[in-house]
Amino acid sequence: MVRVSSVDQVATVVRFATDHEISFTTRGGGYSTSGASIAHGGIVLDLSKLRAVHVSPESHTVTVQGGALWADVDVAAARHHLVVVGSTLNQIGVAGATLGGGYGWLTGQYGLAIDNLLWVKMVLADGSIVTASETAHADLFWAIRGAGLCFGVAVELGFRAHRQEGHVFAGTLRFAPDKLPRVVAFVNQFESLTDGRQGFWFGFTMQDSVDMDQCHILVVLFYNGSESQARQFFRPVLELDSVVDTTQMLSYDGLNGILNTADITARRDSLPKIDITHPDKSVGFRRSLRGSNITLPLDAEFVQSIYDEFSAMVTHYPQARDSRILLEFVPNGEVKKVANSATAFASRGPYYNVSSLFEWAEARLDDEIRSRQKGMMDRIGGDAGIARHPGYNPSTHGTGLYANYAGRDVPVEEIFGSNISRLRELKQKYDSHNTFRKWHNLNKHANPPD
Ligand SMILES: Cc1cc2nc3c(=O)[nH]c(=O)nc-3n(C[C@H](O)[C@H](O)[C@H](O)COP(=O)(O)OP(=O)(O)OC[C@H]3O[C@@H](n4cnc5c(N)ncnc54)[C@H](O)[C@@H]3O)c2cc1C
Repeated sequence: MVRVSSVDQVATVVRFATDHEISFTTRGGGYSTSGASIAHGGIVLDLSKLRAVHVSPESHTVTVQGGALWADVDVAAARHHLVVVGSTLNQIGVAGATLGGGYGWLTGQYGLAIDNLLWVKMVLADGSIVTASETAHADLFWAIRGAGLCFGVAVELGFRAHRQEGHVFAGTLRFAPDKLPRVVAFVNQFESLTDGRQGFWFGFTMQDSVDMDQCHILVVLFYNGSESQARQFFRPVLELDSVVDTTQMLSYDGLNGILNTADITARRDSLPKIDITHPDKSVGFRRSLRGSNITLPLDAEFVQSIYDEFSAMVTHYPQARDSRILLEFVPNGEVKKVANSATAFASRGPYYNVSSLFEWAEARLDDEIRSRQKGMMDRIGGDAGIARHPGYNPSTHGTGLYANYAGRDVPVEEIFGSNISRLRELKQKYDSHNTFRKWHNLNKHANPPD
């Protein structure tokens, strides 16, 4: 692992890896679960010393070094009453999330992180340093916005920022499973109610099951406005009898920390210690992120069947109780304004992300848990996703697969749709040795699961 402290050092390491054909990857926030930021027997470029953020209040731009986390950006921008569209979990790497697309609570108002990206300074496979934007290396900038992790090491990113005067309303609610029909009924109103300033996630987990020794409904609310407006908007859900309610007014830089405590990576220090030098590789935290998409309206029986399947799994395998499935209703109007061919990101359409983060402890369960996860995600996409709609066309409606959520074994053609041929041409131009292949390997149909 090479922990660099300058862009020139990044260039030296990348050039060395390419010249000697050494397995190579970059590590940002370390949140990927597919092995994309580790290289057994190879070089891991650690960017954790490159986390500076510069805010320009006059031009509403924020310049971010390639190893920064979203917390670095949120806090720096907040000092100037500015915000950037960034991840809902602020310990995630800025570059890792952005170059694959980048969803956040502000996506409903301002689109994806890539839709707010102005330029990226990137170290290419041969060690050269280029700045890509709409006007310079425009072909690379097209590829960077959605598949950037396959093209180089981003050492600096420039974002458009937005004015944010007040606090936002947000928090989590936990419900017993009998509230599911009422939650589904609310979601089915969501598209007609939202003006882009809201977000509503719900899903299932057994994590932190306070007072409930069963798989429960986890809801996450977001409203960019006053508390009274928010409480009015979410009234049908807030008036349900919740077991836990953490909703409150928060600063935007505080908002993106609310889910950190629910995440095992952030809770690592408070968890029972595991000796990572232990020779037995079969013990230790294992996690797998996998995504799908879902369209509205939801069928309550179908959602119940997903609950039942998930609940049966976490009950049967208590070590997987921290796993979760989330249906992420963040308004998609701004995202859909950009054509699927306008950037490499090819999942803009009338649907919403579903994420599943499954966690377990023993290697003997690897195949079993992963196959159940794949089964549930395929079932959601197949029975309730965009592909089941008559007249569905991936070129116009998008592929329905967010590359940062898709499992690494998902074929790249399914993720990038008709953009894959242009991506492969650009790959030949900018990375003919395929140095950057650990995220999704554009030159191959699919990677074997790690
Ligand atoms: C719990 C959880 C919550 C999530 N929430 C969100 C969310 O709200 N919104 C969202 O959009 N996504 C979300 N994601 C997905 C997340 O954006 C991706 O997993 C992302 O790739 C993580 O980036 P990282 O830098 O933290 O991870 P890493 O594991 O460090 O890196 C991920 C990939 O990016 C590459 N990479 C990292 N930094 C650079 C760089 N500077 N230049 C080039 N390549 C680089 C790595 O080589 C690797 O291939 C979530 C994931 C998890 C596990």
